[in-house]
Amino acid sequence: MSLPPLVEPAAELTVDEVRRYSRHLIIPDVGMAGQKRLKNAKVLCVGAGGLGSPALLYLAAAGVGTLGVIDFDVVDESNLQRQVIHGQSDVGRPKAESAAASVREINPLIDVVVHNEVLTTENVMEVFSQYDLIVDGTDNFATRYMVNDAAVLLGKPYVWGSIYRFDGQASVFWAEHGPCYRCLYPEPPPPGMVPSCAEGGVLGVLCASIGSIQVNEAIKVLTGIGEPLVGRLMIYDALEMTYRSVKVRKDPECVLCGKNPTVTELLEDYEAFCGAVSAEAQEAASGSTITAAELKSWQDAGENVYVVDVREPNEYEIVSIPGAVLIPKGEFLNGSALERLPQDKKIVLHCKSGARSAECLAIVKNAGFSDAVHVGGGVLSWIKTVDPSLPAY
Ligand SMILES: [Zn+2]
Repeated sequence: MSLPPLVEPAAELTVDEVRRYSRHLIIPDVGMAGQKRLKNAKVLCVGAGGLGSPALLYLAAAGVGTLGVIDFDVVDESNLQRQVIHGQSDVGRPKAESAAASVREINPLIDVVVHNEVLTTENVMEVFSQYDLIVDGTDNFATRYMVNDAAVLLGKPYVWGSIYRFDGQASVFWAEHGPCYRCLYPEPPPPGMVPSCAEGGVLGVLCASIGSIQVNEAIKVLTGIGEPLVGRLMIYDALEMTYRSVKVRKDPECVLCGKNPTVTELLEDYEAFCGAVSAEAQEAASGSTITAAELKSWQDAGENVYVVDVREPNEYEIVSIPGAVLIPKGEFLNGSALERLPQDKKIVLHCKSGARSAECLAIVKNAGFSDAVHVGGGVLSWIKTVDPSLPAY
């Protein structure tokens, strides 16, 4: 389905702009009119991370006249493997500022708007309303649903992308012309079921594969050329090197964009909607969570503890807490871990950040290990508070 251009053309291009964009101008489908539309376009990139990095670079180079970037995070060394908009000297710098500096270097003819803040239910409507189109480069379900809901409520199209290890997906969600994210995924996955890139890893170059699809779609929607990914989900497999697209229909019963919507404003709390950890895990962890420093002092005092790392073997290989035994979460889910736990020691579980270990804690406590505990903040907290010489990943 081809759609009319989203943006009206700017009055004219300057001589500098004509020179800079000449390779666009000589493509008949883009031409002067298309480039003027890009000049007039206001695009917001949510996140200057894996997907935001290539997206911002190419949106800037393409001549999108107003380019916004919202990110609250600072550049970390572990970002540089894929977040190519930042460099070594940017480590410790706010990502939004670092990204804006790169964008200005690539194209000084465009306006960059820096939103160095967390996107929240308080500001999302106000921020989005300043733009024609959103590029969603977020990496968590709570923000994803919030981006979708805000875009639908404001009637704005947005280009969505997601990445994990070697797999990527992308689509254009525009409720006026097709489905929204909730039509495709009516409910967030159960907590802990879908690992994040921080937990499972991501091939760096996958970000470019998916981020460039997002820019491609943004340009098509802004200028009204080609067949945008509205109503289609693009699925990319980097190992097989296949792209396939599947139809996504608008769900007439969608709670947000369907015939009788029940979600007519933003939810109060998207974190709660997506449930960072399940109710069982929360209950198990309540009163049974220790700090990394407490674990260290128990170990130093020679307490009778059995420390279990519930992460995956490759994570354990990167960094582990001294003395911890590796039993991946899957073995707790299928029950085989339980027979490996000693009855005469206090069980201490940990993972990377505390979410997976809380899920396992619920299983362990149900099996009768009533004094078992888990380490809040996991191995990341251990690195921060006990041994900063270890690599955070
Ligand atoms: Zn919908």
